[in-house]
Amino acid sequence: MNKNMLYRSIPKVDVLLEDEGIQQTIGQYSRDAVMECIRIETDRLRSFIAGCEEEGKAVEQIDRLVPSIIRTAEKMHTPNMKKVINGTGTILHTNLGRAPIAREHMEKAAELVCGYSNLEYNLEQGKRGERYSHFEELLCKITGAEAAMAVNNNASSVLLILSSLAKGGEVIVSRGELIEIGGKFRIPDVMEQSGASLVEVGTTNKTHYSDYEEHITEDTKALLKVHTSNYRIVGFTESVSIEELVPLAREREIPVIEDLGSGVLIDLSKYGLSYEPTVQESIAKGADVVCFSGDKLFGGPQAGIIIGRKKYIDKMKKNQLTRALRIDKFTAAALELALQEYLSEETAIQNIPVLRMITESLDEAAKRARSLARTIRGAGAAAKVDVVSCESQIGGGSLPLERIPSMAVAIRPENMRVPELEARMHSLPVPIIPRTIHDAVMLDIRTIENEDFKLIAAELQELMDAEK
Ligand SMILES: *Cc1c(COP(=O)(O)O)cnc(C)c1O
Repeated sequence: MNKNMLYRSIPKVDVLLEDEGIQQTIGQYSRDAVMECIRIETDRLRSFIAGCEEEGKAVEQIDRLVPSIIRTAEKMHTPNMKKVINGTGTILHTNLGRAPIAREHMEKAAELVCGYSNLEYNLEQGKRGERYSHFEELLCKITGAEAAMAVNNNASSVLLILSSLAKGGEVIVSRGELIEIGGKFRIPDVMEQSGASLVEVGTTNKTHYSDYEEHITEDTKALLKVHTSNYRIVGFTESVSIEELVPLAREREIPVIEDLGSGVLIDLSKYGLSYEPTVQESIAKGADVVCFSGDKLFGGPQAGIIIGRKKYIDKMKKNQLTRALRIDKFTAAALELALQEYLSEETAIQNIPVLRMITESLDEAAKRARSLARTIRGAGAAAKVDVVSCESQIGGGSLPLERIPSMAVAIRPENMRVPELEARMHSLPVPIIPRTIHDAVMLDIRTIENEDFKLIAAELQELMDAEK
């Protein structure tokens, strides 16, 4: 086989540029981008020929050069991050973007961030304002706190709080609360970064009041409580409450800090979930500084929300770290919008997607599951489609033991195996992430929106029919 001849038969750039498909692609994107794809694909073809022992295969690749260039250009211009359908029933799915944000909030926020806004401008006084001013009052009204601010995420909250209030000193924390928050981030390590040193007291399952009392010294700058939001110690346990710690801290004029993790603002036990302490309660019990995530049970944008006594919050606002950890305008806008929903519990449950999903009744879930099953059957996918009961989870390290009775659409494909169907669902234009059991893929309805039913049915129909 004559490789030189093969190399010579690769169309030259000027010939490729005259191709109609290539011309169209240039029209759609740009000449520069397409030129880059021509270079990439021609180089790839040359290396293929270099390593190829069969002339037929090499010729085939040369013939496919134009479609390959077009495909590469399309891929280059398609965002890698895309919408997926969450069929897992895990509401705060860390790998799937945690809390979905209300569409209406995003539309309003988009309006703000696409132009200029009064992010740091006080319109009444005509001078520089504060980016927290838009939601500080609301947060205080809802939680009962004196002052508030927000940073990038709750890990930043912990870092900023300790750096502002305990740098160079000691912070006492129970051994039962030294948690890893996921992705290998551990509270003790975050604390160390802040310049505060950790004094661990008690044991894994039991910490007593006296443990805190005995370890308080001149160097103690704060008492820290960390809500064990992502695991539970059950059985022979004891921990010390905020109410008990407050008098001890007051005596020394040091703050009691509580990292609530998830941070719920409404009592979820009313909706059949187990009781989770609310943010308001923590403040009412006397915690001086409380922090929680914006995108866990609160159901808003990624943020670390910090509330508490004004003198402490003021210290944080002045900390140089705040400049590095501050929220952007998009988050500021989305936070204000989410907080406004919390002015009424009813509105919050209706309009905050996470709360709506958590509180959806089994009846409603069943009705929607039947509707999705009908839509899938109607599209004519080659599969047996049933509605079955299942259990949803909160996820995101929140309420770890909680299971919410739910309904799923179970799909048993007729002409492929379940693992294969699952893999193919992942590579759909809008990937579907299901849960699988041995002979079916399951779509838990709780995390699926009605507006996606048609899309899911059409995708599944095409995917399973393609196998025929
Ligand atoms: C999740 C969690 C964090 C970290 O919050 P992010 O918003 O993910 O940074 C910190 N502390 C506790 C107790 C948590 O549960």
